[in-house]
Amino acid sequence: MNKEDLFKDKIVVVTGAASGIGRSVAARLGRLGTTVCAADINEPGTRETVKLIGAAGGNAYAAKLDVTKSAEIKKLIDNVIKKHGRLDYMFNNAGIAIVGETRDMTDEHWKKIIDINLMGVLAGTLAAYRVMVRQGFGHIVNTASLAGLIPVPLETSYSLTKYAVVGLSTSLRGEGAALGVKVSVVCPGFIRTPILDNYIAVGFDPADLTDKPKKMTEVNDAAHIILSGVAKNKSIILVGSDARIAWFLYKIWPGLVDFIGRKAMDDLRKIRKEK
Ligand code: NAD
Repeated sequence: MNKEDLFKDKIVVVTGAASGIGRSVAARLGRLGTTVCAADINEPGTRETVKLIGAAGGNAYAAKLDVTKSAEIKKLIDNVIKKHGRLDYMFNNAGIAIVGETRDMTDEHWKKIIDINLMGVLAGTLAAYRVMVRQGFGHIVNTASLAGLIPVPLETSYSLTKYAVVGLSTSLRGEGAALGVKVSVVCPGFIRTPILDNYIAVGFDPADLTDKPKKMTEVNDAAHIILSGVAKNKSIILVGSDARIAWFLYKIWPGLVDFIGRKAMDDLRKIRKEK
């Protein structure tokens, strides 16, 4: 049996499903015969995802969700249980990126990214975990990043949230195993999605950046890697050769990764024409 056949007839919630990785994972799940609840703060975007899944013969519906509101997440999960009687997979994938120097960031920047990337994933994890422990089965899949495994200067706030998501997921995995609940964390390198253009830039103009990522994974390839990793119940799912190489390098030669990070800082400061 193909590992991905596991998803047939399953009930799945995907957050951040209006765009990028979430949309692509939702669409692939739809093709595999899963019933997908596509949740996002961007309602027109989720409707578009649902349309895509329907056009390919899949089964999906849209839900408006702001992951920073834990009551909304609980209500969404309650509704899924009322409608289907169970929840098989919960993909806590919604996220944003803020790029810039910590000395330029305001408290509001920190609050925004922690509320969405960390508290949003935590709320989705807790709501799903409680239901799954009661059921005695289920799989939670949280999206972190390569920036949750290696240091990334200029993305310090992002990295903080993603390291926390890795810690949450890998630790909860050990707690949930004997209760029938699986937990995986997805750590992508660069994936070609709108987040690479829509991030919040603090203290610099993105147009001045000449050094754009050279090697990027296409989003549909990312969705395939993610679902294969979930089907194999991997703890950490690395997505893209950049993620695999960078994490390996960091483990064997952290000083080199530090050096590359400092060089990226120097390059940005040259653009800002200050030290
Ligand atoms: P994306 O911008 O295409 O999609 C992110 C989605 O999250 C959007 O649909 C957005 O509306 C939604 N969202 C944002 N705030 C929300 C909120 N408060 N409530 C509900 N939904 C909200 O970006 P993507 O690249 O698909 O990112 C998906 C996840 O992958 C994120 O967690 C991101 O940090 C992570 N990631 C992406 C990359 C990459 O290179 N694209 C790399 C590593 C990790």
